[in-house]
Amino acid sequence: MTEALEGGCSCRAVRYRLTSAPMFVHCCHCLDCQRQTGSAFVLNALIETDRILVLAGDPEPVSMPTDSRRPHDVYRCRTCRIAVWSDYGRRPPLRFVRVGTLDNPAALRPDVHIFTRSKVAWVALPKDVPAFDIYYDMATLWPAASLERRRAILG
Ligand SMILES: [Zn+2]
Ligand SMILES: [Zn+2]
Repeated sequence: MTEALEGGCSCRAVRYRLTSAPMFVHCCHCLDCQRQTGSAFVLNALIETDRILVLAGDPEPVSMPTDSRRPHDVYRCRTCRIAVWSDYGRRPPLRFVRVGTLDNPAALRPDVHIFTRSKVAWVALPKDVPAFDIYYDMATLWPAASLERRRAILG
C-alpha cells in the first residue's frame, strides 16, 4: 500500500486505520443498503476486526432488522451516529468497513457488485468487475490469499 487507509466519522470522535488491505470489497445494491445509506449502494471492505486499529472513539453497535433474518449490527459513532462498519451475522472477527468513511474513499475499488437485481437503472457497472443478481461463490472469486485470511478467522 502506498497510503495509510485511515478514516473516521463526520465529527472526528471516531478515527481508525486499516493495518492492511482488505480481503475483498463489496459494492452492494440491495434495498437494505440503499435505505441505510440513503444512496444507491454501499461500499464495504471486508477485513479482519483485528486489522482495524481504532485510534479514537468507541463505535456503538446498533442492530438492524434484515429480510434475511441474519443479525446485522451497524457500528456508529456515539456522537454524530455515522456508520463506520458492520458486523453481518454476528461474526466478531470479521468487519465490513464503510469505504466512504475513509479519508480517501477512492483508495479501495469494488471487487464485486452484488444484489444488482435492485440496482438503480442510472448506475452503469464497469464491464471488468464481476456482478451478480444476488450473491456469488467466494471460492471462485476471492484471491487465494484472501480465502486463507478468511479461513484463519472463521475456520
Ligand atoms: Zn462522530
Ligand atoms: Zn446490501
